[in-house]
Amino acid sequence: MRTQRGPNQEHGVLRRIEEAKKALGKDLLLLAHFYQSDDIVRFADFVGDSLQLADQASRTQDARYIVFCSVSFMAETARMLCKPEQEVLHPEPNARCPLANMADISHVEAAWKQLSDLDKKIIPVVYVNSYADLKAFCARHDGMVCTSANVRKIFNHVLSQGASIFFFPDENMGRNISHDMGIGENEIRLWNPEKGLEAGGVTNPEKSRVFLWEGFCIVHRVMGSRDIARLKSEHEGIRIIVHPECTPEVYAQADLAGSTNFIKRTIDASEPGSRWAVGTEANFVNRIKHDNPDKLVIPLKEERCREMAKVTPEKLLNVLEGLLKGKLINRVYVDPEISRLARVALDRMLEIG
Ligand code: SF4
Repeated sequence: MRTQRGPNQEHGVLRRIEEAKKALGKDLLLLAHFYQSDDIVRFADFVGDSLQLADQASRTQDARYIVFCSVSFMAETARMLCKPEQEVLHPEPNARCPLANMADISHVEAAWKQLSDLDKKIIPVVYVNSYADLKAFCARHDGMVCTSANVRKIFNHVLSQGASIFFFPDENMGRNISHDMGIGENEIRLWNPEKGLEAGGVTNPEKSRVFLWEGFCIVHRVMGSRDIARLKSEHEGIRIIVHPECTPEVYAQADLAGSTNFIKRTIDASEPGSRWAVGTEANFVNRIKHDNPDKLVIPLKEERCREMAKVTPEKLLNVLEGLLKGKLINRVYVDPEISRLARVALDRMLEIG
């Protein structure tokens, strides 16, 4: 049964987090993803999207402990990018991104085997929303990682080598970016993890430039054209800005699209009085709204990520007070060989941009 926190109890938890943070001082770096709740973000030393957080983890020199408030694959990524002597802790290891869960290594290996039979040069690209073994798989096959902030650059990099792309696990992002780059539907093939290549297989392999995994983000997928139509009729002149994990239908109707960092920068820099409907996670949208009181900022749909929400102040406090007692609670571990390879795929991404 879920217990509700009363205001006094809530206040006590927040105060104890503050005190624990102060006591840990420079030994602690607390990172939080944009989709975390305000009660977590208020304590973060750095808040950002997955690319910014990965970069921050790789550049942090002095902190002994990195506490990562997000879903588990991001804490895993930080573990692989920071120094071996630093410890990474995750307040809730069961906060697992459903999109990342849609691709596992056995299915990806099976897909790769079938794609290898096509006798084409294909390079695998994995979205950062994935586990370390898939990143390691990409490293073994000359591939790399991408995020929503650099996916276009990475796709360009692969295509410029005359190779096709095998992209997993987010079909919507892969399709949206392919369309942006002028790749037609007749050049895109869909891989279903249970059924394999789309009905009819690949009859024309030389025309297949992008192979997409049939996975999706449950938060972005529910945002639809109807939401756009309703908000446009209610708010004259409203502009639609969305994350590329939205469906191609929504993406095509949006005025602008990009990573969470792009969305934030665009709205922060827009003129006073401007109106925005934002197609991404609602905690993040409401924070942008709070920071831009002179503009109208509303979620395209009020959707929150239930996995991100599993990281609560109580769980954060548990990890921080554990550190004060010399205990490493929910220490993130990645197999050293998987980590070494995954790091190769991450470094290739960071080199490209
Ligand atoms: S918002 Fe979507 S992609 Fe991000 S953690 Fe939640 S389910 Fe995964």
